[in-house]
Amino acid sequence: MKSCSLSLPTPDNKLIYRGRLAPSPTGFLHLGHAKTFYTAYQRALEHNGTLLYRNEDLDFQRCKEVFIQAAEEDLHWLGIHWQPPVLSQSKRLPLYRQYLEQLKSKAAIYPCTCSRKEIALAAIAPHDENSEPIYPGFCRKRKLESIPHNQRFVWRFRVPDGEAIHFTDGRLGKQTYIAGKDFGDFIIWRHDDIPSYQLAVVVDDALTGVNEVVRGEDLLLSTARQLLLYRALGLTPPNFYHTPLLRDSAGHRLAKRSDSLSLRTLRSQGFSPEDVLKMVFSPNNPSSG
Ligand code: GLU
Repeated sequence: MKSCSLSLPTPDNKLIYRGRLAPSPTGFLHLGHAKTFYTAYQRALEHNGTLLYRNEDLDFQRCKEVFIQAAEEDLHWLGIHWQPPVLSQSKRLPLYRQYLEQLKSKAAIYPCTCSRKEIALAAIAPHDENSEPIYPGFCRKRKLESIPHNQRFVWRFRVPDGEAIHFTDGRLGKQTYIAGKDFGDFIIWRHDDIPSYQLAVVVDDALTGVNEVVRGEDLLLSTARQLLLYRALGLTPPNFYHTPLLRDSAGHRLAKRSDSLSLRTLRSQGFSPEDVLKMVFSPNNPSSG
């Protein structure tokens, strides 16, 4: 088995810490975001580094101006500060397209016409709540010329089946995921002609010099996917620090967009930023760490 080689800075290196906050403005921020983003802020402070802010607004159907403004306001209210300017992914489409072209020229991706239903029927069931079905590979040999003019398709990244992807997480330690088993060929460019989260996030983190990504544990598999993209594009990956997910007392993951847990609602009910931080970092929260 081959391994993904990473350039991890040693503890005594002189690298200036550069982190980022990357909310998707598809809803109001909730307690889970408060935990991840506050951790990102704390880590930037501890390392005497900088923190960037990126608005991940590529999903034009779901992103709304009201959520963009609310996210910045809620995070400031919580006491989080970042270095301007705020970057918006919707303004960077030509840049992502250049990287799409690079992947095409390296034959690292292929056009795929499978519908979600076709995939769901044939795919191997995911292992857990955070996984998606493994793409069964029907279009792996497909060429662009073979696709009828009016047919919708996505671009998929061909993962090296059986390869172990290793990385050392800042909190969880050594992580290993097997391509083709833990995750399959993933979408790089969507049928509505916008880049996928995986491509945009890699291009942006690399080009803005981010050297530590703090994100929720639900994105561990995405980190493994993204390491393959860094390699395919010849870009240097950052370090990663995955935060624990917030769970209720029964151990269930808190619903992502539950309004009752939005920072907006809590603010309107009179909770202070300190109350919110106590809630998310309290040792009584089974997932705190
Ligand atoms: N916009 C993504 C989210 O809110 C960011 C994930 C990441 O940190 O890469 O889930």
